[in-house]
Amino acid sequence: MSKEKQHFETLAVRTQTEKTQFLEHATPMYLTSGFVFEDAEEMRASFAEEKERNLYSRFSNPNTSEFVDKVCKLEGAEAGYAFATGMAAVFSTFAALLDAGDHIVSARSVFGSTHSLFTKYFPKWNIETSYFHVNEIDKVESLIQPNTKIIYAESPTNPGVDILDLELLGEIAKKHNLLLVIDNCFATPYLQNPIQFGADLVIHSATKLIDGQGRVLGGVTVGKKELIREIYLFSRNTGPALSPFNAWVLSKSLETLAVRVEKHCENALKLAQFLEEHPKVNWVKYPFLASHPQYRVAKKQMRLGGNIVAFEVKGGVSGGETFFNSIKMCSLSANLGDTRTIVTHPASTTHSKLNDQDKQAVGITNGMVRCSVGLEHIDDIIADLDQALREL
Ligand SMILES: *Cc1c(COP(=O)(O)O)cnc(C)c1O
Repeated sequence: MSKEKQHFETLAVRTQTEKTQFLEHATPMYLTSGFVFEDAEEMRASFAEEKERNLYSRFSNPNTSEFVDKVCKLEGAEAGYAFATGMAAVFSTFAALLDAGDHIVSARSVFGSTHSLFTKYFPKWNIETSYFHVNEIDKVESLIQPNTKIIYAESPTNPGVDILDLELLGEIAKKHNLLLVIDNCFATPYLQNPIQFGADLVIHSATKLIDGQGRVLGGVTVGKKELIREIYLFSRNTGPALSPFNAWVLSKSLETLAVRVEKHCENALKLAQFLEEHPKVNWVKYPFLASHPQYRVAKKQMRLGGNIVAFEVKGGVSGGETFFNSIKMCSLSANLGDTRTIVTHPASTTHSKLNDQDKQAVGITNGMVRCSVGLEHIDDIIADLDQALREL
């Protein structure tokens, strides 16, 4: 069977570094900062990039290469580079590709720290960002300027689980000769492959569902070879590299991504359906609920609806407080994509840096809860949220 014909699950399990001296069935850990050379000529040729090999783990390492190769195969990408965190991936991708004076067009709804990059740090280098609302993709073209270089978006968004039409964004980017960069963290490579819809680069926080067990931090950017080359050269000099240990954990985690995500999504849909009928809940948003405003787009571009359910409890701020204080089993935490179900209050935690106007623009209300549905039995998850809602 040719490699190209293999399925997602097979590629996730069977992509491995080359056979080693001891023929371990599982890939060993290469906990080394440097690599040795046979002689002066090999060293020279390696540094001159005439020879492709590992030199130093800030550049590459067998464990990080295995992880990157696997994500590339799962996303249908030509090349990639792995980072210590998702934010290192986001920052380095922009920093490598943008010059002072360039312009970004971004969805308004983006991860909190990405929003901080756009509003607080990039303006230092005279890089400005214009925003479009998730429901107004038709406005994207009107925001494009002569100095625009990148269109940026997440789908589903954090924390509102809005869906952006990736195919439409891909067409706009192509028409205007811009780079389309998608943060695919919430979908994982299993649910959605943005490159297929025209994205040039795809970013993941591997900390979330890719690790899936809340153990390690990591990030990765994959996509067009020539763009990854720029990102690699930038990162090789600035040092945001993923540790080989974390790469080993993440590559192992990818082996079970498909089965884990299937179960996460099954649980999330059941929870969303339960909450939709609950008298103490004002609204529920989940991409695969027919009531979701972009349900048809979600069905078009995603395999399943993901593991994040957003909902609003009755009673505003005090309702939210009572709800969170009544939770018994689920975790109050800011992470997501863990085996353990997590409930988060975006208004006071992950998105607290946004002013009231920005919160409103991305749909964050005081009573809003973001639930990262885990792998406990669904009846136990529902029972815990139900008893907390009954306290309202
Ligand atoms: C968590 C997250 C990030 C940042 O990832 P870290 O690994 O925490 O640095 C970026 N984008 C999205 C959508 C995220 O959820």
